[in-house]
Amino acid sequence: MRMLIDGELVSGTDSFDVLNPADETVLGSAPECSQANLDRAVHAAQEAFRGWRRNIEKRRDVLRRAAVVLRENADPLARLLTQEQGKPLAKARGEIGGSARWFEYTAELEYSSQAIEVAGQRSVTVHHRPLGVVAAIIPWNYPVITAVWKIAPALLAGNTVVLKPSPFTPLATLKMAELLNDVIPRGVLNVVSGGDELGARMTSHPGVRKIAFTGSISTGKAVAAAAAPDLKRITLELGGNDPAIVLPDAVPEAITEHLFRAAFENSGQVCVAIKRVYVPEQLYNRFAEEFARFAGTVKLGNGLDESSELGPVNNDRQFERVLDLIGDVRERGGRIAVGGARHGEQGYFIEPAIATDVPDDARLVSEEQFGPALPLLSYRDVDEAVDRANAGMFGLAASVWGEDTQRASEIGGELECGTVWVNQHLNIVPQVPMGGWKWSGIGVENGIWGLLQFTQMQVVEVA
Ligand code: NAD
Repeated sequence: MRMLIDGELVSGTDSFDVLNPADETVLGSAPECSQANLDRAVHAAQEAFRGWRRNIEKRRDVLRRAAVVLRENADPLARLLTQEQGKPLAKARGEIGGSARWFEYTAELEYSSQAIEVAGQRSVTVHHRPLGVVAAIIPWNYPVITAVWKIAPALLAGNTVVLKPSPFTPLATLKMAELLNDVIPRGVLNVVSGGDELGARMTSHPGVRKIAFTGSISTGKAVAAAAAPDLKRITLELGGNDPAIVLPDAVPEAITEHLFRAAFENSGQVCVAIKRVYVPEQLYNRFAEEFARFAGTVKLGNGLDESSELGPVNNDRQFERVLDLIGDVRERGGRIAVGGARHGEQGYFIEPAIATDVPDDARLVSEEQFGPALPLLSYRDVDEAVDRANAGMFGLAASVWGEDTQRASEIGGELECGTVWVNQHLNIVPQVPMGGWKWSGIGVENGIWGLLQFTQMQVVEVA
């Protein structure tokens, strides 16, 4: 696989292996982006910016055509994504289809200038100008759609992009770039590959004016620090530890499947997956039984096998981490009611784990697991559940579940997070902004609000 730099496919002088998490074999290799490669990509993006910023109708058209390219190549892209990331093929197809949908939606977004009436002035207008070169950096859980969430709005707003996927999952993103090269003008989109230090070089590059980052909280802080000396604009979409609060009027048998799927989607490797569930003590045993029942029926396997519902964890580092967190629950006196063991001898498979009677200081509760293990926590009164949900510095999303939706919405209003879902979780659509509170992020993606993060407000006053 090659990088896309200034409209050309570039091999680079060095490369690194990419593994298939389902069997730990080498799936392919990706180029290691040198400093000269990166400088060339940023320079190409700077040059392309001059013309690209001028014609919004052309930009809309390019985004529409990008959607068509993704749809036409959905099958091979989805297969590659499954082999590299691990998710079941149907989910990989969903990610490619969703990416096309995001391009289509963004292509039609309106963000007009606004006139302001000021006595004595002929005209005062507020415009939204593009910023220049955007460095986009993404993680390994959704290597296609998280790229598109940055590329589409950045380009529509008139910016140009240098994007870097995770070293665990560069192949599908590089393949997408190669395909998009047919419809995106030279230099407007550049995709480079390499390790974490390449990300660091991008965030301190003097040619970059905006960093759009998705990844962990610790890296997000490093990105903010790297951006500060040059006052580069930043959007940070970081980790979450989403609580789901089940209210006493909820019916376990009616909602457990939904909760379960929102926790174990993509084997739990979703920033806004449910990561802890607070249940009233009188319903605790019923919920624990229902969760264990679902966990026991889920089919775990290679994502290329169409019958697999859950795939492996993406990489060895994450695999070890999730097993460590499961071990920590046991050490602190909690119980793994079901699952939690390695599945098979090859690949990073972990049987979906339900943890019960878990103390709040267990790492599975206080940290982001980002994997297939879910703690069930019992509470006495709702205020206490809200306090425990708000404890700590995560603030991405949360959900509240109950028959009385008015009451559930009010409780949601007390949660310190960017998104509160009521009687649902993990519902992400292109129109609705998504972002984190506290350490879960700065700024938002999606909708008009996400688009405006790729612009600078400029006032033009005519006397
Ligand atoms: P990570 O922070 O380790 O890596 C993310 C990206 O940053 C990778 O491309 C990596 O190479 C790069 N990187 C690493 N060090 C860097 C540095 N110093 N400067 C610049 N770039 C650097 O995260 P990960 O393990 O790949 O992804 C998992 C995390 O991503 C989880 O915490 C998850 O919650 C989060 N995430 C958040 C969202 C969201 O929208 N909020 C979405 C998906 C994932």
